[in-house]
Amino acid sequence: MAERPTDPRPQPPSPVDFAHLNGWDRDWETYSDFDLPTYVGPTTFMNLPWITDPAELRARNVDVAIIGAPFDDAVSHRPGARFGPRAIREAQYTSGSIHSLQLGIEPFEVLTVVDAGDANIIPAWIERGHALIHRKVREVAETGAIPIVLGGDHSITWPSATAIAEVRRPGSIGIVHFDAHADTANDDWGVLAGHGTPMRRLIESGAVDGRNFVQVGLRGYWPPVETFEWMQAHGLRYHFMTEVEERGAEAVIDDAIAEALDGPDAIYLSLDIDVVDPGLAPGTGTPEPGGFLSRELLRAIRRIVGRVELAAMDIVEVAPPYDHAETTSMIANRAALEAISALAVKRQAGRTVRWRGSPDTERAAESPGAAEGPGAGAGRG
Ligand code: MN
Ligand code: MN
Repeated sequence: MAERPTDPRPQPPSPVDFAHLNGWDRDWETYSDFDLPTYVGPTTFMNLPWITDPAELRARNVDVAIIGAPFDDAVSHRPGARFGPRAIREAQYTSGSIHSLQLGIEPFEVLTVVDAGDANIIPAWIERGHALIHRKVREVAETGAIPIVLGGDHSITWPSATAIAEVRRPGSIGIVHFDAHADTANDDWGVLAGHGTPMRRLIESGAVDGRNFVQVGLRGYWPPVETFEWMQAHGLRYHFMTEVEERGAEAVIDDAIAEALDGPDAIYLSLDIDVVDPGLAPGTGTPEPGGFLSRELLRAIRRIVGRVELAAMDIVEVAPPYDHAETTSMIANRAALEAISALAVKRQAGRTVRWRGSPDTERAAESPGAAEGPGAGAGRG
């Protein structure tokens, strides 16, 4: 039986340069984090810079800031939307300066877009979650950047749109709301802050006028008829899915745009992904058959953002645990991209994108080298 050597001498360094032998010591081209594939490195929206400090958002004159609201403690049925922001950030296979074929623009060459990170969420505390989402959205919006908030269940629209309404004072915001459900119930089993009630809270609190509300895609079996009586009494306008079936998405979106422009100074776009048919977007907590095609929704977002002044947007109710093949989070990712690309087209045409506070601050904010966004004085009035 062979014995192991008891006193092995130190081995001399290998004379063979294996890296050279295998061809690994070439001058390989390397890429910036932004241009690497999206599955490499940390998960930010589109590999964009992760910048959570409002002062830095101001210093960079950020046009659009992604915000995560990973909160689903207010759902009435299947939970899981707390994982939505991360899934929506990941649902992308291209990176770098992407090109919108539909709009003919490279949005990240035209706009400064960053990922501003998540609200400071912990589980199992609705009131705290809403407070911290309100704080995060407000501090980002005050820099002048347009927030795109990734939920999260739909209850996050209450604090998020409230923050935008405050920052935009004395102007007003309207809401264009895509959803299978009206979300105007008084309460969910006695809970006022549920995901079936945010639109009711926004209107009752006075943050948004019911007459500046336009809903698209309603269908199914909820809410009860009394809720629609309340909506009519408060001047909400809404379009059932049956109208889309009878008149076509294009005609209904035309009407929704005209209604959105009738009154408010700017629009908050709230997209519940369950407006899309669950055959295409199964990853949501309250799927409702008979919905929009993804192409109809994406076209609608391009057209709405192209036509109205966008104050902010949220994309909610993406629940990755039910999202086999990631189709739902991909639609949500594209929904954000369509809005960003439509904003880029506006910027290229010389139109307003960032919130400029007031016409007085507009010139200063847009001048090269301006160190401070117009949001420095936001919250005025
Ligand atoms: Mn909803
Ligand atoms: Mn819904």
